[in-house]
Amino acid sequence: MWRAVKRTERRTLRTEMTAGDAKIQACKGGCGGLWFDEWQLRKVDQPDQSAGEALLHIEQNAAVKLDPNQRRKCPRDPDIVMMRHFWSVKRDVVVDECPKCEGLFLDPGELAEIRSDYKSDDERRKAADAYYREMFDTQLAGMLRTDKAKLESARKIASVFKFICPSYYLPGKQAWGAF
Ligand SMILES: [Zn+2]
Repeated sequence: MWRAVKRTERRTLRTEMTAGDAKIQACKGGCGGLWFDEWQLRKVDQPDQSAGEALLHIEQNAAVKLDPNQRRKCPRDPDIVMMRHFWSVKRDVVVDECPKCEGLFLDPGELAEIRSDYKSDDERRKAADAYYREMFDTQLAGMLRTDKAKLESARKIASVFKFICPSYYLPGKQAWGAF
């Protein structure tokens, strides 16, 4: 079972996309997942907000549905099982980090749909705010309170979300204080 998934990931996690200064590997036509290697992650922490918005609209194959309960191996280090940082049932979002190469895998799930689910910008903003609050307050804030390594991971994850989400989703100065 895992072998089939791995082959799929290897075959499809290959389309290189440029967003802002960063180059991201996207599983285009597959699971729609995004891979940020450690070096590229440094580039997403830039003042140019939501440069990566296009990454939310990667063409996906509905048949390639990843099992959120299954731990994933690093696309760079096939022997390393990645750490699952957080996930959301509501929007199918998964974030995995490789403890060896420090790359980050993000399955944005249905994040992009926040845009189409609501009629007005105001409704959308409120929904996005509630959604990120739920995700970040319970999970990211917990990481921020623990050790330094987790703090670094939390900052990294927060900057990736800021990179891919329109600035009105994440206006800054949140209670959890990542940015
Ligand atoms: Zn790795």
